[in-house]
Amino acid sequence: MTQTVSFKKNATNVFFHILTRCNLNCRHCYINPAQHGKETLPYETIEKWLTLFMRAGKETNVVFLGGEPSLHPDLSLCIKKARALGCRSVTVDTNGYLFNDILSKVAPQEIDYFSFSLDGAAAKTNDRIRGKGSFRQCLAGIQQAVFRGFKTSLIYTVSRTNIDELESMPRLLKELGIDRFFIQVIGIRGNATDRPPEKLQVARDEWLRVVPAVARNAADLGITTTYPKVYLSLAEPFECAGRVADNYFIFPNGRVYRCPLCEDYPLHSLVCTGDRLRPTDKINECDLFRLDIPEGCVMNKIIQPDNLCYNPDGSPQYKIACCLLKEEIQHT
Ligand code: SF4
Ligand code: SF4
Repeated sequence: MTQTVSFKKNATNVFFHILTRCNLNCRHCYINPAQHGKETLPYETIEKWLTLFMRAGKETNVVFLGGEPSLHPDLSLCIKKARALGCRSVTVDTNGYLFNDILSKVAPQEIDYFSFSLDGAAAKTNDRIRGKGSFRQCLAGIQQAVFRGFKTSLIYTVSRTNIDELESMPRLLKELGIDRFFIQVIGIRGNATDRPPEKLQVARDEWLRVVPAVARNAADLGITTTYPKVYLSLAEPFECAGRVADNYFIFPNGRVYRCPLCEDYPLHSLVCTGDRLRPTDKINECDLFRLDIPEGCVMNKIIQPDNLCYNPDGSPQYKIACCLLKEEIQHT
């Protein structure tokens, strides 16, 4: 059954970029050193900042990411600290290179998922986007993680470049022993802004024809699958997660965003300084969250308006959902 995952009011989701350095240079990478810094955060700072996001009476889900988080020599300490603080779930997003022998420094019960990024069902497509040899290395990383008893998930970012291979993914995931599948939509930010958007963004009709069907196929194979809703009819309600949910995207230079689409701009609404979290001056992303427009998401209209369509009278044909609104299909 397909279910829209509504924004949870009683959960805090922390996406913690513990460094921005990476061994790859993917074509759609959203990391922007000019905005996010180049630091590798010392473990002591990570520990301090993590505690700033723990809220009494609320469950906290933490995702450690980067850059490539396994390049951080203290990633295992970060995972253990998040567990010790009582986080409900701890996930590591990785490109599969699994540096610093990370799999031997944590136990499967200390981490909910190693989440691998792959953008093609074949090396040719994936490596064109993520770099030569990255397909082989990612598969090897998944195999090692599964062999050692870790739960694994996989993130596939859909663009014009790789949508044709999405249909082949469920079988590959089944063969690899992946537990969860996250389909993502390309965002026009970071490296992706260097390319003409029409070459990267998938048209609405194609998205709706391909993505939900692939998600159902993966769920039929026993893999719980999540994909962004992206398109809303004009009658469907629109909600901005920035207004109603507790999501924090933390970068090593201390910037904390509530909306991933704002990350290419100095629009962060919070900043970590020393061991304090404080609000930033206006104008910031929160001022944008308050704007109601007929097209739905304000940031979408500002940074990637090519996925909107209008009637002759200027009214939009549909709305764009918050990029954080997901559909989930559980395996039965
Ligand atoms: S692996 Fe992730 S952080 Fe590294 S270049 Fe690719 S998208 Fe960016
Ligand atoms: S993606 Fe759009 S709707 Fe979602 S938090 Fe950002 S501005 Fe709000």
